[in-house]
Amino acid sequence: LTEHLNKILNKISNTGRLTEQNIQNTLREVRTALLEADVSLEVIKNFIEKVKLQSIGKKFNKELTPGQELIKVVKQELINCMKNTNEHLNFSTIPPAIILMVGLQGMGKTTTTAKLGKYIQKNKKKKVLLVSLDIHRPAAIEQLKVLSEQIQVDFFSPLTIHNPLQIAQDALSYVKNKMYEVIIFDTAGRLHVNENMMKELNQIYNSISPIETLLTIDAMIGQDAHNIINQFSKNINITGIVITKIDGNARAGVALSIKEMTGKPIKFMGIGEKVDDIEAFNPEKIANRILGMGDTISIIEEIERKITKKQSHNLKKKINSGKKFTLNDFLIHITEINKSGGIVNLINRLPQNDVLKNQSPNSMNNNILKKFSAIIQSMNHTEKMDPDIIKSSRKKRIALGSGTKVQDINIMLKQFLYLQNIMKKVKTGNIKSIFENIKN
Ligand code: GDP
Ligand code: MG
Repeated sequence: LTEHLNKILNKISNTGRLTEQNIQNTLREVRTALLEADVSLEVIKNFIEKVKLQSIGKKFNKELTPGQELIKVVKQELINCMKNTNEHLNFSTIPPAIILMVGLQGMGKTTTTAKLGKYIQKNKKKKVLLVSLDIHRPAAIEQLKVLSEQIQVDFFSPLTIHNPLQIAQDALSYVKNKMYEVIIFDTAGRLHVNENMMKELNQIYNSISPIETLLTIDAMIGQDAHNIINQFSKNINITGIVITKIDGNARAGVALSIKEMTGKPIKFMGIGEKVDDIEAFNPEKIANRILGMGDTISIIEEIERKITKKQSHNLKKKINSGKKFTLNDFLIHITEINKSGGIVNLINRLPQNDVLKNQSPNSMNNNILKKFSAIIQSMNHTEKMDPDIIKSSRKKRIALGSGTKVQDINIMLKQFLYLQNIMKKVKTGNIKSIFENIKN
């Protein structure tokens, strides 16, 4: 056993309950994670208090360390804090249900309008009309029109481009006796909250009486988010938040701050620039993201689901024996996972895989595997055991031998190093819930 594991085992035999002392270090880690995720200080303070209250005195499973047990409490509490009771769009009105999109400029309103239009039409099987009331940015109306053609959702072509109230009224007259079930109105943002925008939104709001008014917030905006939400809320009834650009670098702590500071439900999250990149808000995903172990946990869970009991047992043995995770193990791993059809998902979650993503799913499955296998098989024993030594001349030789490109080798090595790193963390007990994850 590694020294670290020994330490953990000692700790386990010493205590069986969470105490102020044995959770101190982990709480410090959690605090740092929340700070890095851009959660506001006030929210962090309250949150840590809540977690403390809940955990002190709690018994823990003897396979876990206090830190691991605490992380479980933390993750669950994060999820509870962000959970919505009213996460779904409200359509319970005489059709058409009107959705008003508001928010500052550049936050992703127009993109989200199109994404939602497609989402509702496709998933909810409702006939949708998109309307742009943004007369302030020259190309804004055209932007939504182009998007609507791309997603094949109807678009209202305005008769005037001077008065948003007039456009709104024209659109409402237009839909009379047509079978639209949902109308989504996109509006003009400004760089900052200002009176003109609020006045305009207020008038629009009163004239169309939306059942949902969704405020779009860019995840990168961080702690300003709740100020913006509160300012909008003073003027119009915001029924939900859409957080966009969750795919970026932001660690999504903004979601926790929003819920705690404004109480507004987060209904959707934007996860990319494309029209399909929208998902219903998922507190568990965000909790993982905030704690900074999303990829790691989900890959482990994926691995656990895909490999059989025996293999999982072997993996566990391997981890416990402290042996190094080598390229051979990597090959066995991806082969086994591939057998149950999971490699696409798995590889998709690994970082830096844009090259792989651009291939079609079917060809990807087999091609990647074939390539990776060929590459690994073209390596000699020393290289397999110690891939660090594979520099450019070796790469050229291996590429030639395996009928691949140097670039393929680089991709494979990157994926391998990533997985090896995870295995290392697993070994040193750094992944908080690892014992649960590979228990069988
Ligand atoms: P608006 O001014 O609020 O209407 O913002 P837009 O819809 O025009 O979006 C501004 C920019 O943000 C565009 O470049 C979009 O492609 C981008 N964008 C919007 N939503 C997302 C998202 O969820 N992820 C990413 N990466 N980019 C987004
Ligand atoms: Mg716009």
